[in-house]
Amino acid sequence: MTTKARPDRAQQMLLRGFLKRESASAAGLLRFSIALGTVNALLMIASAYLLAQSIHLVMFEGADLSAVSHFLWTLGGLILVRGLLLALSQRLSARAARNIKSNIRANLLAKITQLGPNFTDQKGHGAMLNTLHDGVEALHDYYANYLPSVAYSALIPLAILVVIFPTDWQAGLIFLFTAPLIPFFMILVGHKAEKLNQERWQQLAVLGNYFFDRIRGLTQLKLFDATKRELKQIAKISDDFRHATLSVLKIAFLSSFALEFLATISVALVAVLIGFRLFFGTLDFATGFVVLLLAPEFYLPLRKLGNHYHARLEGISAAGEMLEILQTPGNESQVMAKPASSALDDTSNNGSITVSRLSFTYPNSNEGIHDITLALPATGMMAFVGASGAGKSTLFDCFLGFYPQVISCIDAGNGPFSAADIPKWQQEIAWIPQQPTLFYASIKENIMLGKPNATSAEVTIAAEKAGALAFIQSLPDGFDTLLGEQGEGLSGGQKQRIALARAFLKDAHILILDEPTAHLDSATERDVQRAINEHAKTHLVLVIAHRLSTLQQADSIFLLEAGRVVQQGNYQTLSQQTGPFKQLLNSDTQAGAHA
Ligand code: ADP
Repeated sequence: MTTKARPDRAQQMLLRGFLKRESASAAGLLRFSIALGTVNALLMIASAYLLAQSIHLVMFEGADLSAVSHFLWTLGGLILVRGLLLALSQRLSARAARNIKSNIRANLLAKITQLGPNFTDQKGHGAMLNTLHDGVEALHDYYANYLPSVAYSALIPLAILVVIFPTDWQAGLIFLFTAPLIPFFMILVGHKAEKLNQERWQQLAVLGNYFFDRIRGLTQLKLFDATKRELKQIAKISDDFRHATLSVLKIAFLSSFALEFLATISVALVAVLIGFRLFFGTLDFATGFVVLLLAPEFYLPLRKLGNHYHARLEGISAAGEMLEILQTPGNESQVMAKPASSALDDTSNNGSITVSRLSFTYPNSNEGIHDITLALPATGMMAFVGASGAGKSTLFDCFLGFYPQVISCIDAGNGPFSAADIPKWQQEIAWIPQQPTLFYASIKENIMLGKPNATSAEVTIAAEKAGALAFIQSLPDGFDTLLGEQGEGLSGGQKQRIALARAFLKDAHILILDEPTAHLDSATERDVQRAINEHAKTHLVLVIAHRLSTLQQADSIFLLEAGRVVQQGNYQTLSQQTGPFKQLLNSDTQAGAHA
């Protein structure tokens, strides 16, 4: 988790610009909602006049109730219409906020997908979840309440001033001079609150990452008897977060108390003045009463703005994280429409793939892969082997297009790839990592992820090929069995086979596997290996291999050491040559780790 300095003025402008841009999709709805709210306020002014007039007529002009009944009926009608307008306006602004939130979530997800899994790993999964969920949710109040209240705090007091000044200019002057005190005070307090809120969001991100990590590693923590220690640490971080939240709340309460106090004093001042003027007979009752009725309504939008000011702070703090994700330089062209002609078009391609002089080092380190050149045929099984840290995962991440900056080192027959080819290139690849991801859905839906429009027959064939059919059919609900998160309820081998079925169903040109037969009993391992061998006759299969049996089946073996390919050939040749491969075999045989 990187600690960020408090956003300076330029950053603030950037964030406000971002929030404004994002609201463009629902700007019409927001404007309509604000227009309804303003009409509602105008009707409120008319109601005040009607009420004051009716009371004046009955109390001071001796009119009976029937004489003012038309006023009262209109007043009743206005109250009803105002209620409807208020409800509609609130619904519309809430809907606008929902639309904007969905839009932002979609943009963030698209960007995160485009940046690839390494970005998520680097930022932390918990922090990412926080931004996508709590962060985007924090924008709801900003759009649904804060933005409309900014408009109301300008429009409604102005409308009241316009009608009060001709009626009673002295009261108008009091309104005019006391009103700016509220926003002034808000800005004064806002500065401090903003800093605290920013810190609070950073702590929330740390907390999110911490929780996420610890929950994932709960088994390890239990085994190492570290649960108590971790609980203490979690309590400490939660406590820090609680303190940060409380200091924000302290300021929020203090500021809303001060705002309420200012508004109350101002209304009281107006009331006292009106009282004196009525007493000395320099003001008639109807005017005095209208001013008294309108005085709280004049300060109400300003007080509401003060109450919703925290929504602005929350919104801006949350937007910081979002903007950081959206501005991370990635492969922008991936979101563009697919190019008309692509380096993947099959016209002149015999299916072979070359990787030339591929080098990639991780930022701030010299580790990675260096100068890797591979000539991969259209079909067959290629095994990649090497000690841990040799660079196998990095090579495959580059091959899968997770690092767009090196994608031009890959050529599938029609010239080097460009970044725009990555989405299409990824469609050509099915990938099964060591711990395949299964989703909270039925087995069938999990398999169909590879081909959403597949028929049931195709799903069954894929499952059979992957050696998964027998165990799926033995389950009470068969293919409709609902899996828990991460395939909860299945053994490691069963998850591997479902992932394999998914890959077979996708039927991509290239299948990449990491240790495919790990977790399998020897009978199933034979079946799955046979299925993969069969698949390799018509497809290119790239395997990160650790088992001797996998190496023996491979058409070609690439041995990696310190990020370089140091030996290449088939098992027969390599095992007879003196070199790193033979050393690896010997050390493994001695350790008895493989086969
Ligand atoms: P393998 O998959 O063969 O075990 P990796 O491709 O994971 O090896 O790692 C290759 C080298 O790159 C190692 O020296 C490792 O320490 C380094 N490395 C891997 N991931 C990162 C990362 N995210 N940041 C910095 N260095 C990394």
